[in-house]
Amino acid sequence: MDFLPLFFSLKGSRVLVVGDSAAAARKIEVLLKTKCKVRLATDTLTDQGLKILVETNDIERVSLTAESPNNDLVWGRISLAVAASEDKVVNEAIAKTAKQRNIPINVVNRVDISDFVFPSIIDRSPVIAAVSSSGELPILTRLVRSRLEANLPHAFGRMAMIAKKYRQQVREGVDGINARRRFWEKHLEGKFSELVFSGKEEDAVDLLESAIEDLSSTAPSNDGEVYLVGAGPGDPDLLTFKALRLIRQADIVLYDRLVSEPILELVRHDAERINVGKERSNHLVPQESINELLVKYAKQGKRVLRLKGGDPFIFGRGGEEIETLAEEGVSFQVVPGITAASGCSAYSGIPLTHRDYSQSVRFVTGHLKNDTCDLPWHELVQENQTLVFYMGLTGLATICSSLIENGMRTDKPIALVSKGTTRHQKVYEGTLSTIVDIIKNQKVAAPTLIIIGDVVSLRDKLKWLE
Ligand code: SAH
Repeated sequence: MDFLPLFFSLKGSRVLVVGDSAAAARKIEVLLKTKCKVRLATDTLTDQGLKILVETNDIERVSLTAESPNNDLVWGRISLAVAASEDKVVNEAIAKTAKQRNIPINVVNRVDISDFVFPSIIDRSPVIAAVSSSGELPILTRLVRSRLEANLPHAFGRMAMIAKKYRQQVREGVDGINARRRFWEKHLEGKFSELVFSGKEEDAVDLLESAIEDLSSTAPSNDGEVYLVGAGPGDPDLLTFKALRLIRQADIVLYDRLVSEPILELVRHDAERINVGKERSNHLVPQESINELLVKYAKQGKRVLRLKGGDPFIFGRGGEEIETLAEEGVSFQVVPGITAASGCSAYSGIPLTHRDYSQSVRFVTGHLKNDTCDLPWHELVQENQTLVFYMGLTGLATICSSLIENGMRTDKPIALVSKGTTRHQKVYEGTLSTIVDIIKNQKVAAPTLIIIGDVVSLRDKLKWLE
């Protein structure tokens, strides 16, 4: 280990930053998150130096000196120094002076002559995580950081602040360090933290206070919750941080056919999994039973994850599920997901809107009852509009012919995106009059999304995945 990570109090200290580069501005920004003052020294007072001052917007705490860094005055009452000049020679000279004066120095991009390096910081004050690759491979630092980020919701700091207020009470109420640890583990990883993260701080406080009042009781609490989570179109990297966090903490998971295997692998190994997936016209578990199962498990005190492909509120019947929960008084949260239209559009290089081609986009269900055309076709046939059909593969021929009958150009471009955003993504392109023939002898795999509109022609230029 070349560097010892320390959390260094800079309260009342003064830090010298030399140079008025963009790097200097970044360092000053981080330094000002602590309670220190900054002296910015530049030989010449450039526009950039002034800009840093204006941007930091903290005249009280940042002072600018145009003295040469060789001047004793510059170093008066300095506890830490940063050399961020664009001039290599200047930086080396500063490092030397700092060492003579026994002041720890960081030289930007020169770990070899630095006493300390700036880590990458995740600030959830009072909780702070800092990651460093000892100046060697900053990209690794970023990777580790994003993993940590995903596990530390933004309200983590708020949770710590609230919990902190009850520390003494818990210490007085619970005997033994192990029992206290269990108490905090249960709440910091349970409903209390979840309430804070979902912005219900008052409920969180109530819960913690009643848990403290009731410290002697060891009975498991009976208040489960349902998380209705959008799992996105397939690529697990398209999950939101919130989705990932709830996936990891659920006790039981009810998932759909559309949820991809790599996403299911993120579920805790000891969590129970139930496939309620719906094959088209072969519903494994009818919707009413799913609604009832959610209520049943939540009432058993479980954290129930209802994982749905894409976004739960777009052709996902998510609304019906939480309606039942609301009627039964079960608490729930809804986490949006990237809907198939967004995922397929991005991964196939077909923007859904474009200033020249399309000013609106319409999401339509292509699940046509008994092959009948009960869609408002005349409304769908508009210039400068993109149509996205979900569940439209079976009805493709009907969709194309109905649009043509209602006046859409026969050469209107159309794309089918099969298994969008996954490794198996395939895109079939044609026009309203040709697409049915084009796929006649192909086995287009479900799920498939249909995009119709002039924007499809942009794909030639914009496709980036294949
Ligand atoms: N709630 C989901 C949609 C469910 S309806 C969402 O927001 O995406 C199911 C339809 O979504 C499928 O028939 C298909 O048209 C589309 N779909 C879902 N995932 C897809 C994917 N990875 N690639 C292509 N289409 C997809």
